[in-house]
Amino acid sequence: LYNQVQDLKGNIRVYCRVRPFLPGQSNLSTVGHIDDGSITILTPPKYGKEGHKSFTFNKVFGPFATQEEVFSDTQPLIRSVLDGYNVCIFAYGQTGAGKTYTMSGPKVLTEQSFGVNYRALNDLFHISKERKDTFCYEISVQMIEIYNEQVRDLLASDGPHKRYPSIVSYIRNSSQTGFAVPDANSVPVTSTTEVIELMDIGQKNRAVSATSMNDRSSRSHSCLTIHVQGRELASGVFVRGSMHLVDLAGSERVNKSEVKGDRLKEAQHINKSLAALGDVISALAQKSSHIPYRNSKLTQLLQDSLGGQAKTLMFVHISPEADAISETLSTLKFAERVAMV
Ligand code: ADP
Ligand code: MG
Repeated sequence: LYNQVQDLKGNIRVYCRVRPFLPGQSNLSTVGHIDDGSITILTPPKYGKEGHKSFTFNKVFGPFATQEEVFSDTQPLIRSVLDGYNVCIFAYGQTGAGKTYTMSGPKVLTEQSFGVNYRALNDLFHISKERKDTFCYEISVQMIEIYNEQVRDLLASDGPHKRYPSIVSYIRNSSQTGFAVPDANSVPVTSTTEVIELMDIGQKNRAVSATSMNDRSSRSHSCLTIHVQGRELASGVFVRGSMHLVDLAGSERVNKSEVKGDRLKEAQHINKSLAALGDVISALAQKSSHIPYRNSKLTQLLQDSLGGQAKTLMFVHISPEADAISETLSTLKFAERVAMV
């Protein structure tokens, strides 16, 4: 176990996942060859005369990869949370490319279609039980969203879905408590059933705003944070770890000549925070001495969980459709920059 953890230390991984065609979609695909670690995109002439571009990642999951397969490479990270490490898992990509599917699953959930967040919590409960003779663990969750650089508590006790989730603007240096957003509700959990209920509340709180600004979920970042505190029974020593599971806002660029007002403001906030995240991760990958955490709420929030001993995994999602080609290429370029070491 120790060696495994050593291997993962300070590690940044980037996995690419290709969404399958959805029912009713035309089957003209931009995705050429896929193997374990690379993907080739077929490009029309305006992108150069080769007709294709290849990208390399730590892993590429094709359209037929199951939720279980996608999760299985994530499992060592779960173990390390119980050993006291901080972990961040991101879902990146344009709206509709499958971020929420990877993190949560489809709208109608079955055991097979559970996303990364349920599976991660399930594993946490499972492993903590396995260790019950040597460790006593407490696990709690927070759920927030970042919209237009404001942080909102999706588990606010004035919910569920009664009114707009309350703003918690306070992000602190969390070295003392391990809580980056101490004002956001933190709910102790002991079973996956409880977690599913909480996520439901969170989703509903999020949906409240969706009626006033349609499809809010693709324009805000949502973050499920799991705090783990373990006490080693023999020594009484505490270990603290955390896991952030982040479903990022859609990365698509908007045409400035077509949108204005609120929509333009949203787009600018999203662009800025995704760029800030990319800058932080690539600075970490290059072992730069200055890591620009302060450029967005998202990177401020995750400061203690990005870099240092923390482990980062980014799932980059692409759609296979021909008319998504320009977003697909810019997504893959972003991802390659992030993965660059
Ligand atoms: P995003 O969160 O990036 O906007 P979604 O996760 O909502 O995208 O996915 C868009 C649609 O595609 C949803 O209907 C979702 O269920 C479906 N979908 C996404 N990924 C997959 C997949 N790997 N297998 C089957 N359906 C998928
Ligand atoms: Mg989504």
